[in-house]
Amino acid sequence: MKLTFLGAAGEVTGSATLVETSEATVLVDFGLHQGAADSDRRNRSTAIRQTLRRAKPDAIVVTHAHIDHVGRLPLLPSWGIKAPIHSTAPTVDLAGLLLRDSAHIQSEDARGETRRRQRGGRKAVEPLYTVADAEAVLEWFRPHECDTPVEIANGVTLRFLHSAHLLGAASVELRVIDRGVERRLVFSGDLGPGGVPFLKPPHRPEHADVLVIESTYGDRDHRPLEETVREFDRVIDHAMIDGGKILIPAFAVGRTQGVLVMLTALRRDGRLPDIPVYVDSPMAIEAGDLYRKWYEALFTDEMIERMKGGFRLIDLPQLHRVRTSDESRRLNDMKGAAIIIAASGMCSGGRILHHLKHNLWKANTDVVIVGYQAEGSLGRRLVNGARRVNVLGASVIVQAKIHTINGLSAHAGRTDLLAWAALLKGDRPRTFVNHGENGPRLALATGLAESIGCEWSLPGYRESFEL
Ligand SMILES: [Zn+2]
Ligand SMILES: [Zn+2]
Repeated sequence: MKLTFLGAAGEVTGSATLVETSEATVLVDFGLHQGAADSDRRNRSTAIRQTLRRAKPDAIVVTHAHIDHVGRLPLLPSWGIKAPIHSTAPTVDLAGLLLRDSAHIQSEDARGETRRRQRGGRKAVEPLYTVADAEAVLEWFRPHECDTPVEIANGVTLRFLHSAHLLGAASVELRVIDRGVERRLVFSGDLGPGGVPFLKPPHRPEHADVLVIESTYGDRDHRPLEETVREFDRVIDHAMIDGGKILIPAFAVGRTQGVLVMLTALRRDGRLPDIPVYVDSPMAIEAGDLYRKWYEALFTDEMIERMKGGFRLIDLPQLHRVRTSDESRRLNDMKGAAIIIAASGMCSGGRILHHLKHNLWKANTDVVIVGYQAEGSLGRRLVNGARRVNVLGASVIVQAKIHTINGLSAHAGRTDLLAWAALLKGDRPRTFVNHGENGPRLALATGLAESIGCEWSLPGYRESFEL
């Protein structure tokens, strides 16, 4: 059996791992590289195309709908590769939303880049893929329940384990029989934090011979949620005094809803003043509908009962949902304190950019960073204290206060990651640490070696391992 890492090796984006046995080939995730300078080159890599054309996957398994896990799937039709895509049912819905959006972004980026090039007398660029490509792969999705084994290729049985990271997110267990030998491979996918009171906790795997584990926050723990809520409370108090805007770059799916849940909790405690809250993202609005449709997949039994009785986790009378770009632009002229939540979460595109362009230079603006900022992203530069940044073609001086509040993370911290793997102590699985920058993944690998006694590797991009 052979494992090949086609992304997320020493970085947090581009998740893709190929599993090849003598009888079957399975691709686990095929995510987009995002944020870094060479992302586009890697997304268009002919070497990856050749590898997959040669391997001809019999099945594709998707852990969850984040673009860094599904965003390269629409490349497959044009590469002449077709295979059923297995995921949980909520992931099918969310992948529809996210892949169509990704295709729109690809088309717009290509249009912009083409305009720039043509001014310089250079050739037009093709989008990475189109909405039609995204629609084509969406037809290949096959929904499955968590905890229910299903055979997906010769000698390969799949089981999803709830991972508490995003609606529909799951770890993947593959039971693989190759030349009469059975082995259990576990892919953590992205893991959610433990200890969020109303969320169903991640399902820890009981056994594994081979483990592929994420390490986004492998070197640190998040601050406790209560502390995060207090910090947020302070930022809002200040904004009320100086009348500035609070900009929250937030991923439309998951994070935006998390921020609204927190604001609702503040309001119930009487700590949220009467400040307008704008969700400036049509996608976040649609995602909210999917969270309402699939809420039983996400919450504890106790919370599901309360919700059936009418309890609402998001309940804000001052909430405005901004759909059109005209409405979005009008927010720029609005006076007074307001909370604006807009995508993208790493400030690498989307409506948050024009809010940043119009407000970063004002000293009474607060930018609240609530999610992971990849190396090379505008969000990361702000967190690192850049005094001047380029936004939408303008050079903007940064006078706004930048706050990082990381207790809202949808990712497990170090302690959570180690706890998730703890039951594998007896198995001492051959372990591959991916989906993390090198510092965090080395820290997690050494932690795992101590706690479960495993032998580990930090796979490189396109590196293969015979097992
Ligand atoms: Zn994710
Ligand atoms: Zn991820």
